[in-house]
Amino acid sequence: MENLLQGLNVFLIGMMGSGKTTVGRAIAHQLQYRFFDTDDLIQRVTQKSINDIFAEEGEVTFRALESKVLTELAACTKSAIATGGGIVLDRLNWGHLHQGLIVWLDAPVELLAQRLAEDNTRPLLKEADLASKLTSLLEQRQHLYAQADIRIQIDATQTPEEIATEIIQKIPTVLKQKTVPPSNN
Ligand code: ADP
Ligand code: MG
Repeated sequence: MENLLQGLNVFLIGMMGSGKTTVGRAIAHQLQYRFFDTDDLIQRVTQKSINDIFAEEGEVTFRALESKVLTELAACTKSAIATGGGIVLDRLNWGHLHQGLIVWLDAPVELLAQRLAEDNTRPLLKEADLASKLTSLLEQRQHLYAQADIRIQIDATQTPEEIATEIIQKIPTVLKQKTVPPSNN
């Protein structure tokens, strides 16, 4: 598989709580890839939590930081990259995502709500009615997530490792549509 992929990056997209960070790590492990997380890199660069960036500088500033981080990551190879749920909103980000293989972790709202219920690090989910907020975010974003190369339906029974294996098994079916970009490292 490593040879088949020829260093092509794997980008995880999907709603907050769908498992991008967790499954991204498992994919990196299975493919012997590096792992990056755009939210994590933004927090390291700014020395601020995602919540504080949203509160103090606003969503527009956060999205600009996210695009900058993505631009830098797109120059890497052999990486599994977990993104933020809103990365799909900026059309320019898609140019970078399409340099790699894009995987949508499509999880039902009930599962997302269950996972996020006790998590207060997610800035767009402060509202009391978590499930209806998630439903409306998903409605706005679904047609964008659907532009991924691979769609994985997530349910509560699979471990992150099983999901990673399922993704890796699906890669050959979409690879022929992808060309490997010139490598910078
Ligand atoms: P995202 O990065 O998409 O926001 P995370 O990877 O942070 O999602 O996962 C959200 C929560 O769900 C975390 O607490 C994580 O441990 C848990 N989780 C993710 N994937 C699974 C899974 N396959 N099985 C059980 N728990 C999971
Ligand atoms: Mg994450």
